[in-house]
Amino acid sequence: MRRILVAGNWKMHGSRAMVKELLNGLLAGTRNASEVDMAVFPPFPYLSEAQTLLAGTSITWGAQTLNPIAQGAHTGEVSAGMLLDFGCSHVLVGHSERRTIYGESDEDVAVRFEAALAAGLEPVLCVGETLQERENGETESVVDRQISAVLKRSGIGGFERAIVAYEPVWAIGTGETASPGQAQAVHAFIRHKFVSQDDIIAGQLRILYGGSVNGSNAADLFAREDIDGGLVGGASLKVEDFLAIRNAVA
Ligand code: PEP
Repeated sequence: MRRILVAGNWKMHGSRAMVKELLNGLLAGTRNASEVDMAVFPPFPYLSEAQTLLAGTSITWGAQTLNPIAQGAHTGEVSAGMLLDFGCSHVLVGHSERRTIYGESDEDVAVRFEAALAAGLEPVLCVGETLQERENGETESVVDRQISAVLKRSGIGGFERAIVAYEPVWAIGTGETASPGQAQAVHAFIRHKFVSQDDIIAGQLRILYGGSVNGSNAADLFAREDIDGGLVGGASLKVEDFLAIRNAVA
């Protein structure tokens, strides 16, 4: 049986003091064993704080992006090897903000996914449509295109140790959540795409939903057959809000 994963994407928020408080609060609130896995994705400078406080606990951590090149003259960039140095087990690739603000194409995302896997990191591939694409009836074709680019490069085997996060762009940070039915329909579409290539990998693949998840909507979302947890932005920045999501399904 797949375990639910609740992952917090902290984006470019926080300070050293806030991160410390947040991590200590999460640790205090997750002392009781549960069926829910938790992961956090702090900004790069706070990965060392995560490593110090979370090593040996049940909470894992990762980065929000990576540069696919191992090392070299790439001012400002961070490689997979550097993330491993800070104990990261996961890395987000293709978050919609990376795609839209920083112009990462489907191919760029596929290259990052491949580099993460090659380094031994578990990539969390984010996919999802804009409002206009949904209104044009293009949700499935957009998600299909985004996943196909990665499959083309890494093959179905690449998803043996990876996670997919369906994040409709119109629901990210807007307070407007996809209904459990809307989300489940896209998750089922995604699962089916993988089933056609390898039903064992497809069955084990965790597909998270992201887009204004909170303590009130998490239980209904995660109860759906193909929704294996959530990638949480805003609500992961407050201990009580993040724990409310975990506890909604714990
Ligand atoms: C996100 O940043 O991936 C996200 C889903 O944000 P929020 O939960 O705030 O919508």
